Amino acid sequence: MKVVFSEDHRKHFPQGELSGGELVTPFERPSRMEYILRELKARKLDDIMPPAKVAMKPIERVHDKGYIRFLKTAWSEWTAAGFRGEIIPTGFPMRRMQLRVPRNIDGKAGYYALATETAITAGTWEAACASAAAAQTAQRLVANGAPSAFALCRPPGHHAASDMYGGYCFFNNAAMAAQMFIDQGASRVAILDVDFHHGNGIQDIFYDREDVLYVSLHGRPEDAYPYFLGYADETGKGKGKGFNINYPMPPGSPYDVWGKALESACRKIKRYGPDALVVSLGVDTFKEDPISFFKLESEDFRTYGARIARLKLPTLIVMEGGYAVEAIGVNTVNMLEGFLGG
Ligand SMILES: [Zn+2]
Repeated sequence: MKVVFSEDHRKHFPQGELSGGELVTPFERPSRMEYILRELKARKLDDIMPPAKVAMKPIERVHDKGYIRFLKTAWSEWTAAGFRGEIIPTGFPMRRMQLRVPRNIDGKAGYYALATETAITAGTWEAACASAAAAQTAQRLVANGAPSAFALCRPPGHHAASDMYGGYCFFNNAAMAAQMFIDQGASRVAILDVDFHHGNGIQDIFYDREDVLYVSLHGRPEDAYPYFLGYADETGKGKGKGFNINYPMPPGSPYDVWGKALESACRKIKRYGPDALVVSLGVDTFKEDPISFFKLESEDFRTYGARIARLKLPTLIVMEGGYAVEAIGVNTVNMLEGFLGG
């Protein structure tokens, strides 16, 4: 299995994340990639290649043009305004307010942000493009006949909506890859999101579509980020009715609860009969994850990797979250080994 990875992810390394009222070192940090790479190499899953140059077209298929322009110029506008810190907006278009894009960069950032934990820095644009490029290159490998490929993306993507960043995400790599399969002629694509958090961005992008099935297993929104989306009764709208499936689960859920949801999810994907599968792989379901509350053991990742493989679909695996950094390599590679039957 080819692994597509760009060192340019390092260009995005905010120094602050607003968490519990403090500015802390972000949980989503560059060292996450080092632990994964080390484990890939240790277990000889080391067919690692850099991505081709990013193509903007596939990004534009799932993201708003104004939003893309904002991400590209945010840092220069922010510094030109004389702000000295990282971009963390202070105001948002909340209930009963106008949805008009302000000219002021602080206001503009508030318009395009869905939360305040995700700071933008000088290198964020380049890193987000490199992450999207990794997903694009890996997608093309699968589209060209590889049974599977792993896009080792950072920053992650599944929280990014067509015109919103947050949850450490800027471009929605999994959604973009699914759209690439469709644009190349696939009639149906399924996205299975096993990250601890609900992939609000993917849901939002495909909510009224029947050609992309989105299935997510996650911490229930009453208790877990992103709080405002991810309920079981969100099933899609219009033509998309029935093609959005959420499995919210309570705090402390162990593998026997999670695994049952996965089994149900896999059956629904099978019934849908997609031409390709995109897996949003977050390993923050691990019992020691510092910002999540499921109780998966490291061996469970191998078990569920094998279950996903039994779908026997061309599969693109896209890296999302996972913040217990010392275990992230073991858990990620356990999933890949399980998937590959090793
Ligand atoms: Zn997550």
